[in-house]
Amino acid sequence: MTDSVFSKIIRGEIPAHKIYEDDFAIAILDINPLSEGHALVIPKEPAETLHELSDEHAAAVGRILPRICRALKKVTGCEAYNVLQNNGADAGQEVPHVHFHVIPRFPGRGIPVSGKPDKDNGPGLIKEWHPGTLTQEEALEIGRQIKRLL
Ligand code: 5GP
Repeated sequence: MTDSVFSKIIRGEIPAHKIYEDDFAIAILDINPLSEGHALVIPKEPAETLHELSDEHAAAVGRILPRICRALKKVTGCEAYNVLQNNGADAGQEVPHVHFHVIPRFPGRGIPVSGKPDKDNGPGLIKEWHPGTLTQEEALEIGRQIKRLL
């Protein structure tokens, strides 16, 4: 486990705009927001990735995420939002401490309601998925292996 910038924020060693805190987690405003209200929900346990997080801290984060979403919806007036969580460098994780992004979305920012993504329209999130197809054989095989572990 690394001592990340989020651990320092949790300990109060560096400043952040904290919008929520309890015994298990904090929520802060992202320093480089993709939209108005972009917030980060961060468990106090210094796990780097979600699969390393204890049940106790995972439950605490799960409890407060919908509350943060409701507050952001009310304050920003957004109708839509993304909850995003990156694990590992290949997934785009930059800070090695579990965190959930809550990103309010507005028409015309990032992905417009219809039409092409508009990269020139200020900050925003562009969802670009290149999906494949799930075959029956693959589904049965990987599904069987996963179910065995759960
Ligand atoms: P990741 O790419 O790891 O999922 O996202 C890390 C996020 O943390 C980024 O959106 C980045 O702007 C945010 N961030 C990095 N350092 C700080 C900081 O010192 N304070 C705050 N409030 N946010 C930070």
